[in-house]
Amino acid sequence: MTSFSKDYWLTLQANTRLPSQAWINGQHHSASDGSCYDTVNPATGELLTQTAACSTADVDTAVQNARATFESGVWAELPPAERKAIIRKLASLMMKHREELSLLESLNVGKPVMDCYNLDIPGAAGCFEWYAESVDKLYGEVAPTDRHNIATITREAVGVVAAVIPWNFPLDIAAWKLAPALIAGNSVVLKPAEQSPLTALRLAELAKEAGLPDGVLNVVTGLGEVVGQALGRHMDVDCLTFTGSTAVGKLFMGYSAESNMKQVWPETGGKSPNLIFADCDLEAAVEHAAMGIFFNQGEVCSANSRILVESSVYDAFVERFVAKAESMVVGDPLQPDTEVGALIDHQHASRVRGFIEQAQQQGATLACGGTGAEDDCLVPPTILTNVTPAMTIATEEVFGPVAAIMRFETEAEAIQLANDSIYGLAASVWTNNINCAYRVAGKLRAGTVSINAMDAIDYSVPFGGYKQSGFGRDLSLHAFDKFTQLKTTWLKLR
Ligand code: NAD
Repeated sequence: MTSFSKDYWLTLQANTRLPSQAWINGQHHSASDGSCYDTVNPATGELLTQTAACSTADVDTAVQNARATFESGVWAELPPAERKAIIRKLASLMMKHREELSLLESLNVGKPVMDCYNLDIPGAAGCFEWYAESVDKLYGEVAPTDRHNIATITREAVGVVAAVIPWNFPLDIAAWKLAPALIAGNSVVLKPAEQSPLTALRLAELAKEAGLPDGVLNVVTGLGEVVGQALGRHMDVDCLTFTGSTAVGKLFMGYSAESNMKQVWPETGGKSPNLIFADCDLEAAVEHAAMGIFFNQGEVCSANSRILVESSVYDAFVERFVAKAESMVVGDPLQPDTEVGALIDHQHASRVRGFIEQAQQQGATLACGGTGAEDDCLVPPTILTNVTPAMTIATEEVFGPVAAIMRFETEAEAIQLANDSIYGLAASVWTNNINCAYRVAGKLRAGTVSINAMDAIDYSVPFGGYKQSGFGRDLSLHAFDKFTQLKTTWLKLR
């Protein structure tokens, strides 16, 4: 893996412009009433820039432009191979600006800059590349009608897509929505989380440079209750794709019901279980369990936050897992060896600390970590043992580097504990017994089950949840189900 020094990043920061205006119809756009809000580096408290706080009027402007562009056919009616060339150019521009985008992401959300460089930015660029490559290989269907009729089933762009996304993987999740939505021919209005607008705004500039026609991609910055809600309730948005909390996902379903019945696709929270059976490769299980909950400061929807360990290896697992957690480097996101950076903001950090304190009050044991210093956004990798299913730490999504460990005696108990959640996003199973692995995987109520792996993911497979983790799927060709509609055309032969 490549590595750059902190000085390298500081020099780059001194020479980097931070985008701050919204992006509508291929141009920078200030909020119509001139409002701004502070965009702050959570690792240092430094004011990075002031970002446009858009209003309902700005959302209207963005949607009108997206609609007009869609209707004009300037993008939607381009041959797939031509759309592909432009989106591939965008992917290559993202890689050309990989260092700049990595820096913007890290400064904005506090994650280790080298993770941005090695994972987030190439991951997002690769997503555009993957969907660009897919679009001229998608065929329609011909129905088995009688010989006097032909019925074709084709996919058409939905029209105007709104994408409302969270702050934990700002560029990656933008790419998961934008790449399939754009390549299918839609026009899009993207609303980044208020905390993390920087890479989305820069991406829009790069899309223009790549040749994307003005108005096809618009980015409207601002508060969720204002901009997000205005998109959710807009009468001229055809489809709303959302990633974020379960509570806000439910709001979007209500906004749709109260407006134009737009399609809503919520990808929401999780409390994913990691099942450790006694016969597994314990060393590998420990390493991956640490990745599963401490990577990205635990700010991962599919984080393996509930670790269920078979009794006979419970003590051995906990001892090794604590040693691993205590060895992790926590701190400055610009230092190349940092593994756990800053949480998104003080409000979120104190919420995470609250969960750690409450767990102990409810009887859990703090095996390592803890709340850290109250005056920053750093929370160390934290492990709570002796957790029971009724404790808040076993049921609620913390969205921080906090693992809750429970023990089980039998396979049936492990499955019961794992499924005892309102969520069902992901799960991991560790065992050397292939029969047990498949049996358990089949019974877990989760969108993705990783066997002897943690949170396995690829562009080619769908990602999404069961239960209150939402519905619809990001990634893979199945994502086109959200961003296209089926058209049946009958032809009567004479
Ligand atoms: P959030 O729900 O607070 O915000 C998500 C988006 O919704 C933001 O853009 C925000 O501005 C907007 N929003 C907030 N309140 C709104 C309102 N009242 N009306 C309309 N829009 C509103 O989530 P977050 O704190 O940004 O992200 C963390 C959550 O995201 C976690 O629950 C996590 O599990 C989830 N997440 C899910 C996935 C997945 O694929 N399932 C992936 C990443 C994150």
